[in-house]
Amino acid sequence: MPLDAVSGTPYAPRTVSMKKGSSCPVCGQAIVAGRRSWHFLCRGCGYECSNLAPKINAESHRHAIDEVGRERSLRELRRRNFAELLAQIKSLKPAGGRLLEVGCGHGWFLEIARGDFDVVGIEPDVNVCRKAAAKALPVRAGYFPDALGPADRYDVIVFNDVIEHIPAIGEVLDQCWSRLVPGGLLMLNLPSSDGIFYRIATLLCGIGLPGAFDRMWQLGLPSPHVHYFNRANLAVLLRKREFEPRVQGTLPALRLVGLYHRIAYASTRGVVGCVILYTALLLSLPFLGLMPRDIMYSISVRIVVDEVPPEDRANGGRRR
Ligand SMILES: [Zn+2]
Repeated sequence: MPLDAVSGTPYAPRTVSMKKGSSCPVCGQAIVAGRRSWHFLCRGCGYECSNLAPKINAESHRHAIDEVGRERSLRELRRRNFAELLAQIKSLKPAGGRLLEVGCGHGWFLEIARGDFDVVGIEPDVNVCRKAAAKALPVRAGYFPDALGPADRYDVIVFNDVIEHIPAIGEVLDQCWSRLVPGGLLMLNLPSSDGIFYRIATLLCGIGLPGAFDRMWQLGLPSPHVHYFNRANLAVLLRKREFEPRVQGTLPALRLVGLYHRIAYASTRGVVGCVILYTALLLSLPFLGLMPRDIMYSISVRIVVDEVPPEDRANGGRRR
């Protein structure tokens, strides 16, 4: 399947560029200017967004990320967090079923889930997709939902660190609704604006130190963040799109295991600098454990409302 050269998000390249005066996708209030030229927020519900453009497959960004270093730096944290998420999904779907992961990356979640579910992944980055396929994982290169067959339906759809990169969030949630069986589950795992690191980064940005804030939004990286939700406004958005949150929780953004690799990957400080930062984080981990976490997840059930998707109901109840 040919991949779009500009939009690298796993959703088809339909962009919704946020700007001052756009409607908040959660509560409908006007979006206002935020803390950076590309940052916007809603004063009604606390939703935050950016107009940063994703460019995963663009040639200029092909080498922007050291994929080997990135995989090694994140593997352990993700594996532990994914094991927790899978346990939550299994508690709601003990019989298993068909599970789709959108933007499956290297396939770490699929590897863990395939013992309990009939899994399939979609990944828009052709190089990453090839690596996941080499591990005998059932992955398809392309976009959601275009990479699926017209009749494909799932018991569970999962987005791990993906939904915050997709501009057209209302559309993609409606597509999930259409691709889930009645009673199917939607699991979103994403950064939280309630988290302690995000709050500190926001405070620092407010006093003229935007470095950490820019990094939280992944400014300059091939696939920057375009949304930041908190627990409350995410639940409102899901209900608006005919999903009922069943389980909401948080996950640590830092774990002891794999921490040094993460610091070494992200840092330009050299070995001594990395050791100092590692020691500082090691000492602060018990304290950070008491603070609001920076990763949240939500597992919602697709509400059955006479089988008409939400956006069609708003347009007079036509079936798609
Ligand atoms: Zn709002």
